[in-house]
Amino acid sequence: MRPFKVNRNTTLLLAGFFAGAILFLLFFVSANLLSGKSALSLPFVASAGSTTSEAVNATVSPTSEWTVTPVFAPALTATPTPIFTATPLPPEGEAFSIGESIEGKPLEMYRFGSGPIVRVIIGAIHGGYESNTATLVYLLRDDLKSGLIAVPEEITLYLLPVFNPDGFYDYLNLPAGRSNYRGVDLNRNWDAYWAADWDRTRCFNYAYLTAGEFPFSEPETVALRDFLLNNRADALISYHSAMSAIFAGGRPEPDPASDDLARALSAASLYLYPPTNDPGCQYTGQLIDWASANGIAAVDVELTDHQSNDILINRKLLEAFLAWRRPMVSE
Ligand SMILES: [Zn+2]
Repeated sequence: MRPFKVNRNTTLLLAGFFAGAILFLLFFVSANLLSGKSALSLPFVASAGSTTSEAVNATVSPTSEWTVTPVFAPALTATPTPIFTATPLPPEGEAFSIGESIEGKPLEMYRFGSGPIVRVIIGAIHGGYESNTATLVYLLRDDLKSGLIAVPEEITLYLLPVFNPDGFYDYLNLPAGRSNYRGVDLNRNWDAYWAADWDRTRCFNYAYLTAGEFPFSEPETVALRDFLLNNRADALISYHSAMSAIFAGGRPEPDPASDDLARALSAASLYLYPPTNDPGCQYTGQLIDWASANGIAAVDVELTDHQSNDILINRKLLEAFLAWRRPMVSE
């Protein structure tokens, strides 16, 4: 290996470099002193982009450094960032979670279609006590997956087969399997005619349930509320059993859209509407009444009993739900 040798040419080169550097520094400092500023007090933008030519400009026109912002100027012409970025849709037909139950079980949904009108179907709001509603929604999911039932182009359909997983999977330990893990009836926890207690004589009264400490005290109702609002749901079905009837959302009378939807679904299924077999239970804090108050056409569909999945009836009912369009509001 050849040792590095300082020859005459190298010495001259180094000397020239240092002389140049010292001259540059002297020039730079004096230029800033002339403009009345030390190098340290230069604004960040100017000092960050400092070059010899900028220093010269500063002496020629001392005010120019405050008006010229070379670093930021190009950003003004850049394409503005869009305010709304499209959230990618979850994969079609695959489970995704919108939250968790109080016991930590996931609330799993399925999406079909990608149109602008959002429809939602909910099973098992009353857990294992109405477990056939979850079975039905899973069967409808399979029909949609296989293509037996097609979702129209303008609709996005979401299925939530088990809205109350605590009551569904842990039903032996919970009041009739109808509540969530802390004994709350998830169909009495919505912020619509909510009441801490109610007359139970004509209602389900085989076990003691509560309405929660206050409206939306439960993670399940919060998760579904946020999902419905964030996705601007247009209409929903919440499945129950076993009255073979349909209830429409809205108080004291059903709102026109929910009423129209209930009629369309009754015509397709022969489930009774209006539900004249209603024993006169005092309904409080219900999902469909909250949905109605928030502009969502909403119905409870009651299957014929607590065992049958009613799949043949509800294939027709689902097709009617997908074909239904909100009636025009006359001014
Ligand atoms: Zn129910």
